[in-house]
Amino acid sequence: MTEKRSEISQLGEFGLIERIKGNVQLGNKTSLFGIGDDAAVIGAGDESILLCTDMLTEGVHFDLSYTPLQHLGYKAVVVNVSDIAAMNGRPEQIVVSLGLSNRFSVEAVDMLYEGIRAACKNYNVDLVGGDTTSSASGLVISIAALGRVNKNKVTYRSGAKVNDIVCVTGDLGGAYIGLQILERNKQEFLANPEMKPQLENFEYMVGRQLKPEARMDIIFELAELGIQPTAMIDISDGLASELLHISKNSGVGIKIFEDKIPIDSKVYETAAIELNIDPVTCALNGGEDYELLFTINQSDFEKIKNHQDIHFIGHVHDNARQNLLITKQGTPIPIQAQGWNHFRET
Ligand code: ADP
Ligand code: MG
Repeated sequence: MTEKRSEISQLGEFGLIERIKGNVQLGNKTSLFGIGDDAAVIGAGDESILLCTDMLTEGVHFDLSYTPLQHLGYKAVVVNVSDIAAMNGRPEQIVVSLGLSNRFSVEAVDMLYEGIRAACKNYNVDLVGGDTTSSASGLVISIAALGRVNKNKVTYRSGAKVNDIVCVTGDLGGAYIGLQILERNKQEFLANPEMKPQLENFEYMVGRQLKPEARMDIIFELAELGIQPTAMIDISDGLASELLHISKNSGVGIKIFEDKIPIDSKVYETAAIELNIDPVTCALNGGEDYELLFTINQSDFEKIKNHQDIHFIGHVHDNARQNLLITKQGTPIPIQAQGWNHFRET
């Protein structure tokens, strides 16, 4: 008799998470929310504790031939801070776990922690522990973060309501373009080691890829303005994928307008001219921008309508099966997620 074997690629990353979630039950009263948002929510009196974790693996998430270890350490913290921000919380502590192969020296670990400490300082986070182990090949860095938020201010992916306005911070697609530029340089260097890296014109995009920031500034500003988003998620997998998460979890449909998607002019030009790829596709399906996507009640619009770094890209409607991008020509196109699915067969 042959045992059944299913490929993970058939389920995909999200399918696998759904499967795990389906077999997990929460038993403790303090476990207010488990799998399925940017962070878990733990009851602690009038406050809620937020808990999340993210792992970066060499060869999958980063390539050390063009990623300085300081930047890698910084980014590993940022991706966690971003998940705490996406719950409307403030990060307070992290623990850092490392898998190291013998390729890495003490000095290399020092450089990694230089970046980790810089991020901790920037985001007022304390490094309070971790774990160190050896790895058969390559570097694995896994960070868990703990944050805090008033229990009435937790913002889930599931709170979007009909007629809410869809908002996105910063600009999108840059991190993906940065990665393409770094990869192109690497290939050129491998073909011709005499070549000097040519990154001068692409600093903005390369910076977006190698040294992203979490938008805690926006979380503080929204709090000051007395705005609590109805739903929120951070953009780690691309705008399309995150919009579909909000749509699915909130049981609503979302309509966005192509000409409202924020794309920096440098990103636009580099995508269209240098790399010959559609900038809008980069914004929709490229990952790792770590901007925030959120929905607000229309009554809050006045308070942020002139904000330089918050863009209003669409609205929420009641047909949960209809998530549409309205093109510049006015044609509606169904939004599909192609974000980073680590288990997708290529
Ligand atoms: P994000 O992109 O915001 O980090 P993910 O897509 O990684 O979110 O995860 C979505 C949800 O699934 C989160 O609640 C996360 O904690 C949970 N999750 C991811 N992987 C696992 C796993 N292996 N076991 C249990 N829960 C998981
Ligand atoms: Mg997230």
